[in-house]
Amino acid sequence: MPLSVYVHIPYCLQRCRYCDFTTFEWTEILPPERYASQVLQEIRNRHRLWPEREIATLYFGGGTPSLLAPELIVAIKSELANVGFRFQPDAEITIEINPATLTPEKLDVYLAGGINRFSVGAQTFDDALLSLCGRKHSARDTRATLELLRGYNYSFDLLFALPGQTSEGLQRDLEEVSAFAPPHLSAYCLTVPEGHPMASGRPPENEQVEMFDRIESHLRTIGLHKYEISNFAQVGMESRHNGVYWRDESYWGIGLSSHSYSPSLGTHGMRFWNPKSLKEYALQVERCAEDFTAILPDGQYERLKTHEALTDFSHMFLRTMRGLPEDALHNKFAPLIVEQVKSRLQRLVERGWLESSAGHWQLSREGQLLSNKVFEELTFLPADLADRRLTGSKADPYCSV
Ligand code: SF4
Repeated sequence: MPLSVYVHIPYCLQRCRYCDFTTFEWTEILPPERYASQVLQEIRNRHRLWPEREIATLYFGGGTPSLLAPELIVAIKSELANVGFRFQPDAEITIEINPATLTPEKLDVYLAGGINRFSVGAQTFDDALLSLCGRKHSARDTRATLELLRGYNYSFDLLFALPGQTSEGLQRDLEEVSAFAPPHLSAYCLTVPEGHPMASGRPPENEQVEMFDRIESHLRTIGLHKYEISNFAQVGMESRHNGVYWRDESYWGIGLSSHSYSPSLGTHGMRFWNPKSLKEYALQVERCAEDFTAILPDGQYERLKTHEALTDFSHMFLRTMRGLPEDALHNKFAPLIVEQVKSRLQRLVERGWLESSAGHWQLSREGQLLSNKVFEELTFLPADLADRRLTGSKADPYCSV
């Protein structure tokens, strides 16, 4: 299997009010050149930990990677090739950009460096809502960015259910974005905890559901089909990188706070992650080793136990409209476990939250609206697998929970 790589760039023009990613205002931390050199060092020191030598997708996320000089981004991509990774001829190479940070000159450097997909953090065309979110760009900046990207492969990030937003306001956003015919769109319902300053004044839940319906039916009219709970694309323009997360495949997360996953380590897979502290990250990338557990302190990796792997596996596959394939379950888990999961899935089919066809289970229309409840029902606890015959993988049917 080829590898997918995520590179975290923690610089932002501003800290948006709703954001909980590990990012900083770009003047508040070390200069981007120094951060990029740490990323290069991490690549040189850790690439041997991955047996996969071919890269299918590379994703620069953040943060706002487009704030950096584009040559730094291209240098990071080149370093992966320098240490011996081969990029597949059709590798998908994405960079997140925010309006007001893309210029024609930057775009030229990206394209010449092999970047072939852009993810635009536009959110809304309503300037008052943008400012409420704490974003520095305007709708005018977004229009200019989308004009620059016309004809290229890009995705538009739409944020909805914002405080004070109405269905009519959302409709205006949808009509405006449609005029640019984006090949891909990600629609995110604002999520903030109770008591957060942006939690009040939001549309009530029934209106949020109506908004989601409106998004889906409007996007259908412009040829964007829903392929994941929050993602819509023209046929063939679905995000390949995100597909890796949804299909239980390997990814290497490079940079501050990045998470990595390998399904082939441990009994059911292993997750490991970089620290959130810039100081600690700088120290850790100095270390060079042949084994993750030798360079990462306890608390920065976990071997997935059966109930954790089963939970992640069912949630991730079910996010997609293709759903959870029975053969994938059989490939990863022992037969007794698969039977137990199947009986839970069947109960959800009977409740009308899932549908099943051709060896797959998918969220029904109602299940999509109640996806949090479906995922709760498919959250496995150690006690669910207390029978030792139910705790193993296909390879090791008697491992511990
Ligand atoms: S630009 Fe994106 S990553 Fe940066 S603070 Fe805003 S939402 Fe978070």
